[in-house]
Amino acid sequence: MTQDKDKQNKSGNPPAEAPAIREIRISPIVPTESVLVATARGMRPKKKEERIERDTRKHVETCPFCRGNEEMTPPALMTTPDEKNWDIRIVENLFAILGDDEKRSNLVMGLQQTIDGYGRHEVIIDHSEHGIAVFDMQPTHIAEMFKAYRNRMLDLYKADERIRYVLVFKNFGPAAGASIPHTHSQLIAMPVIPENVHSEMHHSQEYYDKHHQCIFCSLIDEALTFEATIYDRDSGQVRRKVDIGQYIIERTEHFIAIKPFASRYEWEVHIFPLKHQADFIDCSDEHLQDFAGLLQRTMKRLDNVLEGVQYNYFMHTVPHGEEYKKNNSSYHWHLEITPRTSIPTGFELGSGLFVNTISPEEAAQQLRDVKL
Ligand SMILES: [Zn+2]
Ligand SMILES: [Zn+2]
Ligand SMILES: [Zn+2]
Repeated sequence: MTQDKDKQNKSGNPPAEAPAIREIRISPIVPTESVLVATARGMRPKKKEERIERDTRKHVETCPFCRGNEEMTPPALMTTPDEKNWDIRIVENLFAILGDDEKRSNLVMGLQQTIDGYGRHEVIIDHSEHGIAVFDMQPTHIAEMFKAYRNRMLDLYKADERIRYVLVFKNFGPAAGASIPHTHSQLIAMPVIPENVHSEMHHSQEYYDKHHQCIFCSLIDEALTFEATIYDRDSGQVRRKVDIGQYIIERTEHFIAIKPFASRYEWEVHIFPLKHQADFIDCSDEHLQDFAGLLQRTMKRLDNVLEGVQYNYFMHTVPHGEEYKKNNSSYHWHLEITPRTSIPTGFELGSGLFVNTISPEEAAQQLRDVKL
């Protein structure tokens, strides 16, 4: 076994003498998703994402999202706290990928089907300050941002029963595909359930039918269990001792930030409510305050370890419509944060097997060690 001795550890601790890992890990939630964790040197087929520095200016005269330039965007759909001195502002996306302006019927051509691109695409201008990062925002502001997501989602579901899913996401930095540098998030309301949510929903429902328990709750319980011992089935001897708590980045009163055991992206972190909750819409203001603090600190940790984090985050929550009731006990809402550090290669796109060259255990350790 080789040792990766000269790995730099920014947190200042000497790198742990962890043996190199080369194993395929199956996602506990979606077993059809797997990741190859390969930490030995020479097992690094990936190209590092070339990073363009992000725009950190406070105010930009020509930016359509800066305060004072409101006439450059469509009229506001929602503002907080008020229209003039807004801190958060929601507008329609001028380059919507889905729209509700034209009526087209669903098309089927042979094996190729299309569903009418009915829906809504909106922009949430997260903050009046142009280049501010989430880790530099006040937790009270972050809580307001997530309240805006929640309230807008609720409005959209109420306004049209064809809407099955409202996807909220954020692209931060050029490496993450953000085309407008002013800090913003987006919301897409669609008539279909996105594939990723559907797989999680389907598999967690199967688990629930078998075990009468939410798989996300089970994983959280497991993460909070400190240690586990794996025995060899034949000899009964100890094969491996696993410190399961090693996946926890931080735990607060109501939430937990976890580095998933089978992370597809090196620095991926998921945040879950500790108590079972399927729908993000049910999250109270008080809980969002706690969530906001945890998110801000998690972003600080990532920014510190990666020396400038560029990322996507997105919300996974139970879809509305027919299956809503059925999935309420088996699905558990969460926020997935995926920092962008490398570009997927043909191997990954072709095989669907993602390669992770930093062990999730070590990544979690580095994130935990950041002094806030
Ligand atoms: Zn701006
Ligand atoms: Zn649960
Ligand atoms: Zn998810």
